[in-house]
Amino acid sequence: MTVNNNKEDIKKSRMYARQQLIDGWDQEIVSKGCIMIVGVGALGCEIAKDFALMGIGKIVLVDLDTIETSNLSRQMLFKPGDEGRPKAEVAAERLKDMNPFLEVDFYFEKLQKLAMSVYEECDVIIAALDNFNARLDLNKICLRMKKPMVEGGTVGFEGHVQIVIPKDSGLEYKNREFEIENVVDTRMWEYDNPEYLDAQKEIEQLEYLIERLKQEKLEPFRRLVRKQVEEEFDKKYAEDVLNITPCYRCLVPIPPADDKLVAACTLKGLPRNRNHCVIKAEVIFEKDYGFKPDMSLDDDVVKLKALAQKELEALRGRVFDENVSEEKLETLTPEEITEWKENIKDTFGEDYKFEEMENILGNKIAAIQSVSSIISSIQSQEALKLLFRLHGRNIGPPMDPPYVNYNGVYGQFDQLHITKREDCLACGNIEGEENVQLVVPFDADIGYIFKAMRIIDRPLEPILWMITNPVNKEMYWNPYMSGEFKDPTIKLTKLKIKSNDILTLTPLGKAKVESEIKRYNLIITYM
Ligand SMILES: [Zn+2]
Repeated sequence: MTVNNNKEDIKKSRMYARQQLIDGWDQEIVSKGCIMIVGVGALGCEIAKDFALMGIGKIVLVDLDTIETSNLSRQMLFKPGDEGRPKAEVAAERLKDMNPFLEVDFYFEKLQKLAMSVYEECDVIIAALDNFNARLDLNKICLRMKKPMVEGGTVGFEGHVQIVIPKDSGLEYKNREFEIENVVDTRMWEYDNPEYLDAQKEIEQLEYLIERLKQEKLEPFRRLVRKQVEEEFDKKYAEDVLNITPCYRCLVPIPPADDKLVAACTLKGLPRNRNHCVIKAEVIFEKDYGFKPDMSLDDDVVKLKALAQKELEALRGRVFDENVSEEKLETLTPEEITEWKENIKDTFGEDYKFEEMENILGNKIAAIQSVSSIISSIQSQEALKLLFRLHGRNIGPPMDPPYVNYNGVYGQFDQLHITKREDCLACGNIEGEENVQLVVPFDADIGYIFKAMRIIDRPLEPILWMITNPVNKEMYWNPYMSGEFKDPTIKLTKLKIKSNDILTLTPLGKAKVESEIKRYNLIITYM
């Protein structure tokens, strides 16, 4: 038995021999570490593979999707024949093949439904997701559980990585010395001691004296200020700048509108782009036939394509009418009219192809393996450094600034300075607020706002909520009052509400006591 164990240990050491040559490496930390990967798509497969190969102790996979044929061009843990099976389950099998010493837990489940104990046991959480709302929810959970999160995403040839280090995660992030100097620098800009200012002037006039003056006249003051800053730094700044980053929500304060809402409003609204036309066609299809089109049935696809094509032609017609008034039309030659129509056709694209409709309806995002590999590798590398840091070892600091953007067209990386928002709904001081982007048709009335909230799974009783405009303090709906303040049929346009206006929904009476949300900020967009 012992002999066998020893043999296994030797085999393991052999496997990891090359990485053990890295300065500061400790295979023990890796083999006792636990990484959670939420989203087992292109990024998730790559990251899971990276950690399996590096010999991580445990990987927790979370994904509620099943494998589709279109995944096979990128998601390297899956192969032809896997279609229809849960991604998390298949990935777990393949990872075990790759590294038999690896422990893998998988959840074919929504990330919001997982027990907190699952999050608790993980060192680092990796967001490899494909939509904003799931990222925002995971961000919230990581902040609450004080777990570092490594976020990544790609669109076509572009991608980004962001690391989020919450308060009290136990991680050392920034360098204290460096941050103190930063504060001193800022303070010196406003330092108005006359002698200091005179000295600065002299420096400009007497260039040859610059070095000497700096030493003799500036440095003493700087030392003085530095002493002051040092005394108050830990109390006043350390907590906010040293071991904490902005969170994901700091960057995405307002999530984009919910697809279900866009679809619901498309039936009444007028499509304004190519995607809207297909979404509207799907809504009409469902209304006409009583079921949603099945994209695997040729018959449904043909019918859907015809409906979408009709919408697209109507859109082209509308754009022509908007741009060419009747008077103008009379002055145009037939050639010029054809040119106009051709231009519009160019702008809104040719007739639909099957894959395009499928991509639009599934809300699919452009993706390619080369870019996924780059972004996922950065995520793996950052997660690895965090893992070591959590266990008191240093193989390099987490990237600072904590956000990097990659443009694969130009082969360019940009590190972006991002700032923590004081009014962030996730990590700031605001509690019980939520920002929501609402897409509404042009003829929407006050009643539609409640309908829209219901569609995005926030059912609110109209008799328990008030709608106001926080900017001009106007009241649009108050169930306690009568007349126009309690008329659900008043059109938003009549109330002079424009696109991008913000309305506030506030709970009253029973809702005020029971609702966790003390205020919804609704950003209205007309379709
Ligand atoms: Zn935040």
